[in-house]
Amino acid sequence: MMSIECECGNKAVFFATGDRDEQGREYIELEDDDRLSVIVGDKSVLFRCAFCGYTYKLDQT
Ligand SMILES: [Zn+2]
Repeated sequence: MMSIECECGNKAVFFATGDRDEQGREYIELEDDDRLSVIVGDKSVLFRCAFCGYTYKLDQT
């Protein structure tokens, strides 16, 4: 399991689905998507906290 915690204390958990792609990488899903929105863009991923509205950005490196 993986989790991400916002400054406000909201904690979102990703769980492993058991499904893998052809390279053996396992898919994860949000346990409760009412807590966090994940927005995947061309060059970045946004994590938006549903509690306080704060948004975190992860840039592609
Ligand atoms: Zn928050």
